[in-house]
This record gives sequence, structure tokens and C-alpha cells, in this order.
Amino acid sequence: MSKFWSPAVRALTPYVPGEQPREQLIKLNTNENPYPPAPGVEAVLRDYPADHLRRYPDPDSRALREALAEEFGVEVEQVFVGNGSDEVLALAFQAFFRHDRPVEMPAISYSFYPVYCRLYEVERRVHDLDDQWRVDLSAFGNDSGGVIFANPNAPTGHGHGRQAIAGLLERVTEPVVLVDEAYVDFGGESAVPLVERFPNLLVTGTFSKSRSLAGLRLGYAVGSRELIEGLERVKNSFNSYPVDSLASTVGIAALADHEHFEACREAVITTRERTRGHLETLGFQVLPSLTNFLLVTHPGFDAAQLFVGLRERGVLVRHFNTQALRDHLRISVGTDDEMETLIETLEDLCR
Ligand code: PMP
Repeated sequence: MSKFWSPAVRALTPYVPGEQPREQLIKLNTNENPYPPAPGVEAVLRDYPADHLRRYPDPDSRALREALAEEFGVEVEQVFVGNGSDEVLALAFQAFFRHDRPVEMPAISYSFYPVYCRLYEVERRVHDLDDQWRVDLSAFGNDSGGVIFANPNAPTGHGHGRQAIAGLLERVTEPVVLVDEAYVDFGGESAVPLVERFPNLLVTGTFSKSRSLAGLRLGYAVGSRELIEGLERVKNSFNSYPVDSLASTVGIAALADHEHFEACREAVITTRERTRGHLETLGFQVLPSLTNFLLVTHPGFDAAQLFVGLRERGVLVRHFNTQALRDHLRISVGTDDEMETLIETLEDLCR
């Protein structure tokens, strides 16, 4: 604790991201895509003229926003881009979440949300998941300082359909409702088509998962013009160049390759469901998942011990040391070979 820190920084428990190990491990701990980015990305990286980096990037990131607008069937003024959706979320907290009323969120969701609440001194009201570990949309009220949840949720994997989100937005019209769609491409249903009807809906997304670009840091938001303008106002107040020139060009190349995108996400979904079957055969309980990870628990084995056993044998998964999740492991979907090794190792450990 330092005397130089502000009260908000003192109160902060920083988010600890999943380990990025130096040694060769089968890495199933941070929900990265096991497949490489689109071939067009490789071409951009090979041919990009270094001299372009001499100049500042376009402060409007116009070309990337146009590509995203086309992808989503919205106007370019309805799209915002940033350095990973984590940054977009941070800007949204600053732009939209009120200080005189608590922001509502599920008790189990992306662990960055509480961190941002503390950092930006926003009160928080949490709601339990329902008995099947789904986000309980009926818990969110119209009198809060904002609503945020991931859909599909992380790390539980369940997702609500667009109609359910529309039902929420018909009732909750005053606060900004932020739907974090980091994992939507692995079987979820996007709420983006609802942004025309609901001016308080902001949808965020990322290139880190389904586009295999976690190392690049590229995320976005889609919403009404007024919400996007709110994000621009905050962004311009501390960094008027949100996305660097190279990242923009790479992002556009990734969006252009629909075939690669479809092939990768289908492969992940197929592998996920095959892995579910194998895990269930081993006695694991596996939550339904519309994401690129599985949240699992085994009635006969301690999750923390399984985590250690797997790691010693070269397989890295995620164990959250929280009350609600300490009996669970979150396993990212890797390649078929990686998942085969995971299952063989678990067979060994669960004997
Ligand atoms: N939202 C959720 C639910 C996530 O799990 C993640 C990834 N950890 C993010 C947002 C942030 O993704 P990124 O900053 O890589 O776009």
C-alpha cells in the first residue's frame, strides 16, 4: 500500500489474467482460439510498409469502423473501436454508469466488471444466477445506474437468445444495458440487431476469440449514435487514437475472410461437444456452453488438485479460487489433439 495511491487505487483488487506460461504447455486457460488468424492477416503482416508507422493513425479509425458497420448492417456512426474489449468496457463504465445508483450485474460473470466498479467508484448490486446457472434477466430493474452482463456468460457458458434480451430492454429503458458478446460467435445469438430499437443498448465484442487475434488487442462496441458519441467523448479526453494503424489493417483483413471464420468456429463447436461427451464419461458434470470453453466439476475429485495434476503433466486450465467457483475448472476448447491429451491426462488423474 502506498501513500501516493488514490483511495480508489487503494481499494482495488486488480484483475489477475490467466497465466501466459513460458514453457510449452497445452494452454487451455484463457479462451484463446487454437487456430491461426485468417491467411489475409499473415499477408498484411508480411507486406505492411514500416514507413506507415511514421504517421499517427486515423483518429476516427474510419476504415475499420466501416468494415465492422458492414459486417453488422449498421451505420459507421454506430460503431466504436478500442484496444481490446476490455478497454471498450472501461470507457463504457466511465461514459454511462452512474455514481448515484448501483450498477447491476450477475454474481458470477466476467471478473473485470467488479474491478472497473472499484476503479471508477461505481457501486455494484449483484444478482444470483438461477438454479441452472443462467443469468437471471428478470432481476435487473429500471432504476439502476446501469446493467452489465456477458452473453453468453463467462465463465458459465450459458447464453440468452435475442428475444429474451429484447424482453429485458422493453422493461429496462432508463439505464444503459451493456451486453458483452466476447463469446457470441461460438453458438450464441447476437443482440446487435436490437440496437436500432433500443437506444440504451450497447453491445461489445472482440477480435480476441473467434478471430484469433488476442495478441493484437482489438475490440468494438455497437449501439445507438448517442451511445457511440458518449464513448468517443471519453476516449478523446485521454487518448484520441484508439487503435493503431497496423491493428486496424489486420482487423479489416480478419473481417474479410468469412470462410476461415466459419471453419474455425465450427471446428471449435464440434470439438467442444465431443470433449463434453468424453468429460461426462469420466464422471464430470459439464455445464451447457455456447462459448469456446467448458465449465466442469467432478463430484469425486477436488478441482484445485486436478488443476495442479494437469499442470504437472503439461496441461494448463483455469481454476478460480472464489467461493462460488472453487469446485470448478474452466477448460478452453483447443485443437482435437490437445483435447485428446487433456482427456487422457484426466483419465489418469481420475482413476
Ligand atoms: N469479456 C469477456 C466476458 C471476456 O472473457 C474477455 C476476455 N478475457 C473480454 C471481455 C476481454 O477481451 P479482449 O479485451 O481480449 O477483447
